[in-house]
Amino acid sequence: MNSDEGPGRNLSASGRRPATLLTHAGRDPHSFHGFVNPPVVRASTVLFASADEMKNRRTSRYSYGLTNTPTIEALNGAWTELEGAATTVLVPSGLAAVTVAILASVSAGEEILVPDNVYGPTRAFCNGTLKRLGIGTTFYDPMDLASLKEALKNGARAVFAEAPGSLTFEFPDLQEILDAAAAADAVTMIDNTWATPLIYRPIEHGFDLSIQASTKYVGGHADLMLGSISASEKMATRLMRTHRELGVQAGPDEIYLGLRGMRTMKVRLEQHERQALEVAKWVGERAQVKRLLHPAFPSCPGHENWRRFFGRSCGLFAFELDGDGAMAERFLDSLKLFGLGFSWGGFESLASYGELTEQRTVKPWTGGPVVRLHIGLEDIADQIADLEGAFAALAE
Ligand SMILES: *Cc1c(COP(=O)(O)O)cnc(C)c1O
Repeated sequence: MNSDEGPGRNLSASGRRPATLLTHAGRDPHSFHGFVNPPVVRASTVLFASADEMKNRRTSRYSYGLTNTPTIEALNGAWTELEGAATTVLVPSGLAAVTVAILASVSAGEEILVPDNVYGPTRAFCNGTLKRLGIGTTFYDPMDLASLKEALKNGARAVFAEAPGSLTFEFPDLQEILDAAAAADAVTMIDNTWATPLIYRPIEHGFDLSIQASTKYVGGHADLMLGSISASEKMATRLMRTHRELGVQAGPDEIYLGLRGMRTMKVRLEQHERQALEVAKWVGERAQVKRLLHPAFPSCPGHENWRRFFGRSCGLFAFELDGDGAMAERFLDSLKLFGLGFSWGGFESLASYGELTEQRTVKPWTGGPVVRLHIGLEDIADQIADLEGAFAALAE
């Protein structure tokens, strides 16, 4: 894995490479007695020196804890550089990053296009709150963009993308999505949680908004809920206004954990990637596995797109069992090292299984039950031994 080569790993505006940005951006030791890390500023009130300063607070760097503090600035600044974006806002969860990005992009009477394999709660937001606000959602097949192009011709104003798709990992042709949206002058956004800006930098490729569930690899330790949205020049003002009006700033201690996690994200991600590739290869060779759903393997739909746009991966993938839901549950119940739980990106291995029937409305899922694994940082031999035990239990 050659660290900084390939698509999406260009130099930042400051000329620093990603690994250097991760370790140095967002801190200035000598402005705080030489301490390596910045202090956490917990704040609501900011005092003004005069009535005049109070009146002109819009021009002050700091005026209220909700809008800006040195802590907010530290992560915002670092993440903006890493994304190659015009600006970044922080929110209390990855889901809030999704919803604020969408609310910044569409208005009553407009329509947004969302992939059929989108993260489940994103679908729920579209079908719930967004619908109530008079904003329509059309779900599209991420692997056949004809319906997306048709909807754009008919006036859809925004396109949401996710790569690879949640749970089933199909990888869409991102350039085709961007080209179709550009031709219709529609706003584009992508949930980039799986890749992080270390693998793919959406803004540089033409997306208007890049969404990150920082809860996952940025935090990295299963102890943080945090999200961010970065914007291109075109959407920067709109995003900042929406974020400010909604009042959904992230908390200072969460932001600090985000900054702290960011410092080691590259080495963690590379280790997750390496171990997941090895475990996935082993999983793909099991007799009970019908199909390996890891974009780096040819069995995964859109593998060629993954090669073209990402070329690298993380610790999260899935596989389809040759059996039924009861078999998937038996598999999960036989695991001892892998925990059963949602979220991912932490140091520990996780497994999950959920029915896909209600999560696919464009193209019903006709495959076997899908088990999702997050490969943590345990010894790989122990990880494989645990999975081996669970596969053996299926044969009993
Ligand atoms: C987990 C996840 C989210 C939501 O993040 P939370 O911090 O858990 O709200 C959004 N998108 C994707 C792809 C995710 O996996």
